Amino acid sequence: MSELKYCQGPDCHTYSTKDRLKGMKGSKTYQTRRRSHMYYGNGNFCDRRCMEDWINKYIEHGLDHFGRLTHAKHLTEDNAWSKSYDYNGYRNLPDVYYYYNGVTKERRPLTEQQYNDPNYTLNIS
Ligand SMILES: [Zn+2]
Repeated sequence: MSELKYCQGPDCHTYSTKDRLKGMKGSKTYQTRRRSHMYYGNGNFCDRRCMEDWINKYIEHGLDHFGRLTHAKHLTEDNAWSKSYDYNGYRNLPDVYYYYNGVTKERRPLTEQQYNDPNYTLNIS
């Protein structure tokens, strides 16, 4: 059985839905949702509203802490690589994985393992 974790939404407990009402009969309270799996914000929030509550509360602090973008970023040959694949399952052939450069339109072959490895990248900058 997987471990239960709490929704990180700062106001989760204030939304009075039936599933949040917990405790002994006569002393039930609305509580932060607790689940083994959540789908929003990297698995930290029970729903979109809780994720947006967190963003609205902490976004200024986060931007000040991690640094604000102060100039336009540019898509160049060096940072335009993205992973992609052609699905061939409908023809009973293996899928074809590749890197695609959004600027030069060049394709470079990838293995399925490289495709699934989030640390494997061709981007220089
Ligand atoms: Zn929540």
